[in-house]
This record gives sequence, structure tokens and C-alpha cells, in this order.
Amino acid sequence: MKKRFSLRTQVFSIVAVSMFLIVGFIYLFQTAFLESFYKLEKIETISDIGNLIADNLGESNLLDQLEQMQLSNEVCVRVISGNSDVSGNACALNRLDRTQIASIYMETLASGGEKLFSNYRFTVGLAKPQDLFIFAKTTSFVNEDVLIIVSSLVSPIGTTVETLKSQYPFVAAIVIVMILLMALTISRMIIRPIKKIEEEAAALPFGNYNGEEVKSSIAEVSSLNDTLVIANEQINKAAQAKKELIANVSHDLRTPLTMISGYGEMIRDFPEEHTKENIEVIINEANRLSKLVDDLLDLGKLEGQRGQMQLQQINIDDLITAVYRQYEELCEHNHIEFHTQIEASGCFIGDYGRLQQVLYNFIANAINYNDKSERKIIIGSRLLDSKRIRIYVYDNGLGIKEEDKDLIFERYYKVDKEHKRADLGSGIGLAICKEILLAHNFEFGVDSEFGNYSVFYFDVVKV
Ligand code: ADP
Repeated sequence: MKKRFSLRTQVFSIVAVSMFLIVGFIYLFQTAFLESFYKLEKIETISDIGNLIADNLGESNLLDQLEQMQLSNEVCVRVISGNSDVSGNACALNRLDRTQIASIYMETLASGGEKLFSNYRFTVGLAKPQDLFIFAKTTSFVNEDVLIIVSSLVSPIGTTVETLKSQYPFVAAIVIVMILLMALTISRMIIRPIKKIEEEAAALPFGNYNGEEVKSSIAEVSSLNDTLVIANEQINKAAQAKKELIANVSHDLRTPLTMISGYGEMIRDFPEEHTKENIEVIINEANRLSKLVDDLLDLGKLEGQRGQMQLQQINIDDLITAVYRQYEELCEHNHIEFHTQIEASGCFIGDYGRLQQVLYNFIANAINYNDKSERKIIIGSRLLDSKRIRIYVYDNGLGIKEEDKDLIFERYYKVDKEHKRADLGSGIGLAICKEILLAHNFEFGVDSEFGNYSVFYFDVVKV
């Protein structure tokens, strides 16, 4: 596996290496390359001046110009032709004798008219020998040969380099202190909060996250902290939901199982109890169990988003009429007044089977949660605006309290905490409806007055 290094080590290494590289380069340029740069610059200056003079030989104020150039560039210029020999004041080149000049001239001619003499050393009398850079150029002016010599003194820079070298231990010490300070600042600002968040995130899967806010001026760190808080809330919610689900499912499975085993034992032990009615109870309870398991599987499928909707064009009249027919007989049998009220017609896009399932659930609940002597259910449609139609199921039953309206669409939420056994519901009917309607992107909900009525609805968009 590739070896990984901590952020602290990496940041520290990058800062240290870059600092040392920068300081190393500066050291190299100021010691090893300083002399070469110095020479290059001198050579460039004297050859530029030599060429400039060659171009301006005819100028009347040449002498003034030579003085000027000598002063501002610390160079020395001498221009020699057949009958003239001019140079700036106090020029070292004045000390060159005729033979030296002749040899410079010859060598320059031999090199094609331009020659650079680096470290030209000459001595006059008892004076100290002098090293010069000399640029010599031969040209002609008014039919006369002209020799232009420009020189610059080679100052020894060894002492300068030595001074710079002696400064380096101090520079290195300052750099090390700066690296340490930078590493410390970076660690304070970035690494410490990240490390803290990393520790908290590591505690998350084991439920030890304490939700403590990691203070940092860095936006990314704060947002990471917020993400962690949200993730923790979601994990807690999921854990709570799982607990509730297991409790509710176990409860709903146990009731029919107790009935089945109780009736079974009774029939086994008392042959006279072997009646059609008692066997009917066993069959009904087994069916209830089967429906509960089916619904749980269905909800799992919808929540896992594997329940893709089979979209098609649906006629509102057809859908309502089909659902009505399904429950017509059951309602008549139970003396429930049941009718349709189709005020808005038209077509929309949806999954016919799934929306039928939603309406069946609404009606099953409308039958179950009604203890009035004259039970009444209406399935209908009405126009909301030019595009939208509301499809609803009305009942004059128990109604739903304001605070329960949103909660009843949650899985296993029961208004009646006594866990009343519904005749038709499995306890997760509305949660399934919610998943189906969300998958359709339909608005849905319930209007209700507690003790008076409930209207469960969803809104479709006309095509
Ligand atoms: P179940 O009906 O099996 O309990 P549901 O998810 O279908 O499960 O309904 C959740 C809860 O919403 C019900 O327990 C009931 O308290 C409430 N409820 C649903 N429909 C109605 C209704 N038409 N009138 C009054 N209460 C209702």
C-alpha cells in the first residue's frame, strides 16, 4: 500500500524544501555566478559604447560625449586615427604606449574589426599592474583608419563574495526560524481544526460523536463541521426509525400470529370448535400477515427507488370509476353511503396501477377510521386552476388533528397509540402512498376537521 504522510508532515516538508531551494538559488547566484554576471555586464557595456562611438564619429561634440560616457559608465574611451588621438580625462588607456596600441590594432584587424580582450593586463612604470576589459573596434572615417578602444577596470569581487558567504549562516538561521514560524501558523490555522474534525468523524460510526463545533476561520472547515453535524443527525434519525420499525413490525406480526396459533390450538383440543367461522379467522389472520409482508416489501422497493413508475396517459373518469367499482359492493354490504363526484375531467400522465393503489388506501382508511352511524365516502375530482385537477377521497369519519396531518404519512405513525387493529390497513398504507406520489412529483396531502371529516387528495396536471 502506498505510504501516506500526515498533512502536518507534508505541509512542513513543502515549506521547508521551497525555502531551502530559494535560499540555495540566491546563494548560488551571489557566489558562484556573481563574477560571471559581473563580467558579462561589463563586456556588454563596453561593446555597446564602442559601437555607439563608431556610429557617431562625425559628431562635433564627440569629446564631450566621451567624457559623459566615461563618467556615467565608469569606463574609459580612446579614439585613435591617423592624425588624432582623443580620450576622456584620467583614462587608464592613456597609459598604453605606441607598441601596445599597435598590437591591439593588429589583433583587432586580424579578428575582423572587433575584439574583446578580457583581463588585459598592463603595467606602466612602477605602478601596480592593472587588469582591464578592453573592447577594440577598427573602422574608417573620411578615408582614414580609426581604432576605438573602450575599457573597464576589472574590480576584484572576491571580497564581496566572501562577505556574502559569511552572511549565509545568519540567513540560514533566519530561514529556519521562518520555516518553524510558518509551520506553526499553518498548523494552528489549518491542520489543527482538520485534525479535530477527523477525530470527530472517526467517532461518528461508533455513535461517539459529541457534536462539538470546531472553530476555524476557514470556510471549508466550517462547512465540513456542518456536514458532520447533519450526517450525525441523519444517522440518529435512521437509527431511531429502524428501532421504531422493528418494534411496529414485530407488534403487527405478533397479533395475527397469536390469533392463528390460539385458534389452531383451540380447534386441536376441542373438536367441537372445529367450525367454519373459527377456520375463517385463521385464514383471515394469515391473509393479514401476507398483506403486511407484501406491503413491507412494496415500501422497501419504492424507497429503494427500484419502483420505477410505468407512466401512461390516464383518464380521470376511468380511474375514479374503476376504484369506485372495486369498493362499491363492500360499502353497500357495510351500509356505507359511497358515491363519485367527478367535477373535472381530462387526462394526465401517471402510473395507473400505482395511483389506483393510492386511492384504494385512501378508501380503506375512510372505511376504517369512521365510527359514525351514517358513514359516508365520496371519491371525486375538482378543478383547481386551468391546468391542475384535484383527485380526492372524502369521508365523514374521525378526522385528523392539525398536529398529526404531516405525521400520518410517516411509516407506522398511528394517531391511535393503542395500536388499533385496522380491518384493512397494514399500518404503512399512507407511507406507501407518499412514496408513490413523490415519485410522480404530485402535490398531495389531507384537509380535515377533527371529529368531522377528512379529505385525502393528490393534484394532477392536465395534458
Ligand atoms: P393504518 O391505517 O394501517 O394505521 P395508514 O398509514 O394508512 O396506516 O394510516 C396512518 C394513520 O393515519 C392511521 O393509523 C390513522 O390514525 C390515520 N388516518 C388515516 N386515514 C384516516 C382517515 N380517513 N381518517 C382519520 N384518520 C386517518
